[in-house]
Amino acid sequence: MRVLVTGGAGFIGSEVVRQLVIDRGAEVLTVDKLTYAGTLESLRSVGNHSNHRFLRADVCDGAAMAAAFADFRPTHVMHLAAESHVDRSLTGPADFVATNLVGTYTLLDAARRYREGLAAPERDDFRLLHVSTDEVYGSLGPDGLFDETTRYDPSSPYSASKAGADHLATAWQRSYGLPVVISNCSNNYGPYHFPEKLIPLTILNAMEGKALPVYGDGQQIRDWLYVADHARALILIAERGRPGEKYNVGGRNERTNLDVVRQICGHLDRLRPAGAPHARLISHVDDRPGHDRRYAIDATKIESELGWRAQDTFETGIEKTVGWYLDNEWWWGPLRRRVYGGERLGLVPAA
Ligand code: NAD
Repeated sequence: MRVLVTGGAGFIGSEVVRQLVIDRGAEVLTVDKLTYAGTLESLRSVGNHSNHRFLRADVCDGAAMAAAFADFRPTHVMHLAAESHVDRSLTGPADFVATNLVGTYTLLDAARRYREGLAAPERDDFRLLHVSTDEVYGSLGPDGLFDETTRYDPSSPYSASKAGADHLATAWQRSYGLPVVISNCSNNYGPYHFPEKLIPLTILNAMEGKALPVYGDGQQIRDWLYVADHARALILIAERGRPGEKYNVGGRNERTNLDVVRQICGHLDRLRPAGAPHARLISHVDDRPGHDRRYAIDATKIESELGWRAQDTFETGIEKTVGWYLDNEWWWGPLRRRVYGGERLGLVPAA
């Protein structure tokens, strides 16, 4: 495989690149703009690997994308570059429209033109995986699961821009015959997760004795998946998924946000007894506008068709994740100091 990975300096993309290069021996070109959310430190373990190359470029830059295709000549594209933080999409939606919609269009069209210049069998074997989220489906009630036929009903500027990108990907398949596969995954967690997201934010704030912000009553339910399981699923879908098909990916690990925060506190109580009980730091903050209540994935299709199974439960994955943050301040310390401002993101205790 020669894989062009966009967004490979981000959380999930860097895990995909590590697995492709180290575990699979694939040739990889990482294309990433290195926004606030991307850092080459996440690719340190593949930095000097002869199978890995890095290109700093914006997926909205059509000329740069055309040149990347022409130079690298990929057999597969895995498109993960995106603006991904829902809170930021509420205060600055323009970047989400630019990268998630215009960037996806630009990449799809560069891929189409590149593939049209290929001869068989490379032309027939070419695949583009568009990586998306379960947030495109909107909110569930207390029962039911999202499957691949669930109607799109996005609530935030982030999920709306991802929904639009999914439709563009489908259109490039149907209108131009580009072999596109789409994945829609639930919430990920694990190493190299940017410190503004719920799980790393909770771990790091608790370690520093700071407030642990929980939106509203904390009863919002997410279906958590360990990032290495997601990356394995993505590589499998890119290799063996059927063009024109969608695959939902999820860990069957539904937890309320409050349970997640409490479980992290429990691990820290054991690992750092000096700060115990860390749950005393929990602080309910005003709920986010348009906050979906419940997401949950039916992963039957990828399980039965491609034989994928999540290997980690939430319990095993969260224990590894807490341990990773305790051991890897070299990675998160500079990011947290440079970028994170809890007040700026609205994560202040409710009156
Ligand atoms: P992330 O924010 O950690 O990483 C995104 C990466 O994309 C960063 O390295 C950033 O520098 C890069 N990027 C942003 N704009 C770019 C542009 N214009 N051109 C080139 N690179 C650009 O995101 P993530 O959590 O790793 O998510 C990756 C993908 O998976 C996204 O498409 C997201 O929608 C999807 N997804 C995420 C989750 C989750 O829980 N994190 C769940 C399901 C799907």
